[in-house]
Amino acid sequence: MRVPANDMPGKAEHHRSGRELAEAVLTQAPYSPMHAPVLVLNASYEPINICAARRAIVLVLKGVAITEEINGHLLHSARIAVRVPSVIRLLEYRRIPHQTRALSRKNILLRDRNSCQYCGVLLPSSELTLDHIVPRSRGGQSTWENLVACCHPCNHKKGNHLLHECSMKLLREPRTFNLHTSRHIMRMMGGSDAKWRKYLFY
Ligand SMILES: [Zn+2]
Repeated sequence: MRVPANDMPGKAEHHRSGRELAEAVLTQAPYSPMHAPVLVLNASYEPINICAARRAIVLVLKGVAITEEINGHLLHSARIAVRVPSVIRLLEYRRIPHQTRALSRKNILLRDRNSCQYCGVLLPSSELTLDHIVPRSRGGQSTWENLVACCHPCNHKKGNHLLHECSMKLLREPRTFNLHTSRHIMRMMGGSDAKWRKYLFY
């Protein structure tokens, strides 16, 4: 599947490596090999998701998926040693509906790649807040189009103002987060990982 050129990472993001972004996005969990991100491919080799290594190993042990690439770590249990995957592939083709992801704080931060949508600073999830572009006190709704990741200083500066009232600007138009957006993020996260690259860029 081809993705239009305008869906590729913008120039402003080139100075951040995929690994840095992956770390920013995954800072909720303390880093361990079990939390390492694993790329999930459909039976057709189309990238469809990213999951934690722990979940990927369960899928492989259940016979739902096979390991396509390993990340070099070995997981030992009492009886067996399992190679920790870097890329897995589902054995049965799964239809992926073009559905919207659930509106949640986690998904908004993921969509906005853990960066403040006003000043662009990249922060761990715990240091970001959600900003209603049109404030709730002025009739703004909690929707994909009206919520963005925001740092505390920008949030404070904006207060209950509309953007034109405080001369602030959004770095990009907030959109609904769907599979198309997810694929964009997979590319951003996998761009520096040679084992992911061949599945993400074609
Ligand atoms: Zn900011």
